[in-house]
Amino acid sequence: MANFNTHLNVAFMASGTMSLTVYKAGLIDDAGFLMCVALGTIGGLLPDLDSDNSTPIKLGFNITSFIFAFGLVMHWRSELSLLALMALWLAGYGFMRYVVFYIFTNMTVHRGVIHSVPYMAILGLGITYISYDILDIPLTASWFYGLFLFGGAMVHLALDELYSVNLSNMKMKRSSGTAMKFYQHKDKWWYLLLYVILALLVYFAPPFDDFWQQLRNPAPWAKLKLGLWPELIKNWLN
Ligand SMILES: [Zn+2]
Repeated sequence: MANFNTHLNVAFMASGTMSLTVYKAGLIDDAGFLMCVALGTIGGLLPDLDSDNSTPIKLGFNITSFIFAFGLVMHWRSELSLLALMALWLAGYGFMRYVVFYIFTNMTVHRGVIHSVPYMAILGLGITYISYDILDIPLTASWFYGLFLFGGAMVHLALDELYSVNLSNMKMKRSSGTAMKFYQHKDKWWYLLLYVILALLVYFAPPFDDFWQQLRNPAPWAKLKLGLWPELIKNWLN
């Protein structure tokens, strides 16, 4: 297992480089760039959160619940009356804070479950869903937010994998294959629940094709190639 600082630094560098690339290509705006770096870094720390760090988890969930509740009323502001909006605000906050939060913290206690690929995929898709469907953030930025959170978490799992291989290279990689986890038999019911939630999220996910088309559009990448080298080196190369 890599330690906290290693995870923080590697996740920050990885998400910083990747976000700068899509930012320079013009695929996200200033705010989106900062969000991607932040989400990628948070993603790199998420898998190690367990009952020992319940304070940051609670804080994170409180903030997420508030943003979700505000997003809901902003999304429905013109359709609903003031009283209905207040009820929606309370219901939205209560749902996130006491239903979703309850499920997630209970799973978090099972350390093996949070430290897995499907759990992180749920969080990533959840961010994309909330960002696009509730907060009305544009599709491209929403997909990037989810992907950066998920990507940061995958960097974390890969790092743990690397460290466990390194530590035990004398012992035939005894613990390898445990970090990049998709399923574990002792937690089969938790994994079943995870995959059901994941399937639902995939079904209701914002359209991926439009995002993919935009990524495949060569124009931003051509622009990036043009702006890759500083003028000084470009002149020297010519
Ligand atoms: Zn870890």
